[in-house]
Amino acid sequence: MVDSQIRARGVSDSRVLAAMEKIPRHIFVDAGLTEQAYNDSPLPIDERQTISQPYIVALMTEALRLKGKEKVLEIGTGSGYQTAILAELAASVFSIERIASLAGKARRTLDYLNYYNVAIRVGDGTYGWREESPFDAIIVAAGAPDIPRILVEQLDVGGRLVLPVGNRSTQELIRITRLSDDVNDVKKEQLGGCRFVNLIGEYGWES
Ligand code: SAH
Repeated sequence: MVDSQIRARGVSDSRVLAAMEKIPRHIFVDAGLTEQAYNDSPLPIDERQTISQPYIVALMTEALRLKGKEKVLEIGTGSGYQTAILAELAASVFSIERIASLAGKARRTLDYLNYYNVAIRVGDGTYGWREESPFDAIIVAAGAPDIPRILVEQLDVGGRLVLPVGNRSTQELIRITRLSDDVNDVKKEQLGGCRFVNLIGEYGWES
């Protein structure tokens, strides 16, 4: 998976590649999907949600530019697969999932794999996690109609926010880098097209 789908398509951060080689993706999907777990595609998890495509997970993670000491916020825990990768690459991960059953299952999987630097909370992640801010990096694993300003506010100066922005069916991956104390002083980069499930919440889509 890592050689043919991720390295071959241009992801080169050696820490990201090593984390993806280490973490068993099949543990995050139902037993019936084990044989498809290393294919280049998203797969269904419970509650009509999906575990993201491995290449997109790698691309988004590389875009966060993690070195190891960061505090990271993730919105959309889902299966917890992306969460485990972040837990390998940063100091601590705070992850928010709106569907309680998914959050519970992800917690159990991450405990089983011994990821103890992860806090998971059930709720609307479009508000961020103010008490734990500022974050060095924020990643949103569901498609948003716009860039939630409240998330940019929770970025440290120099921090990166990576999220898909677009309509309900297709989005563009965007990286926002906060440049100063002024929340409007940001650099915005486009990283390519993608398709994510909808970000549902106050600063996302209506359910
Ligand atoms: N990275 C995850 C992706 C899961 S799909 C994985 O690979 O498994 C996106 C997830 O975002 C879904 O589980 C969905 O329930 C969740 N989600 C959507 N809107 C949300 C919101 N406002 N706050 C928190 N989670 C949200």
